[in-house]
Amino acid sequence: MQLGLIGYYSDFVVYPLVIAILGVAGLIEAGEESAPDWVGTMLICLGLWTLIEYVLHRFVLHHVPWIRDLHDRHHVEERSPVGTPTWLSLGVHALVAFLPVWTVSDFATASAVSCGLMLGYLWYISVHHMIHHWHPAHPSYLYTLKRRHAVHHHIDDNANFGVTSIFWDRIFGTARL
Ligand SMILES: [Zn+2]
Ligand SMILES: [Zn+2]
Repeated sequence: MQLGLIGYYSDFVVYPLVIAILGVAGLIEAGEESAPDWVGTMLICLGLWTLIEYVLHRFVLHHVPWIRDLHDRHHVEERSPVGTPTWLSLGVHALVAFLPVWTVSDFATASAVSCGLMLGYLWYISVHHMIHHWHPAHPSYLYTLKRRHAVHHHIDDNANFGVTSIFWDRIFGTARL
């Protein structure tokens, strides 16, 4: 939805803080012996985020009524501060990831899962901001992502759903150069 500038940029302050606090608390809870497992779980969930990002963009942002309209606006007004408010994304995350995992497992596991997914989300919104507002040098990772995302915005919105990676577009046959 349309956000004020503070609303738009608050993700970039709140998410690093929440991830840092939850990460320290989770590692303390896990203890020295389980710390490698904690880091492993976190990294797996960071990788899992790239698939969630693909699925959300392809099936939710482009198909669910109301959300689709907001996303269509972003496709047209790509530099205006349209996004998901921090309280909403954090709330959804808590309800569908953190609390369920804590319920069936324990706090250390839930914190590792959440840190991985939130780090992925933070990476996603950062990359998405940069590819719309920055002018990256030409042969670079960021430039490739920017060009691919511009194809998605302006040429073919049935292609290039991944923002931070091209992996899942290749797997599901939606990659377009
Ligand atoms: Zn889109
Ligand atoms: Zn975009």
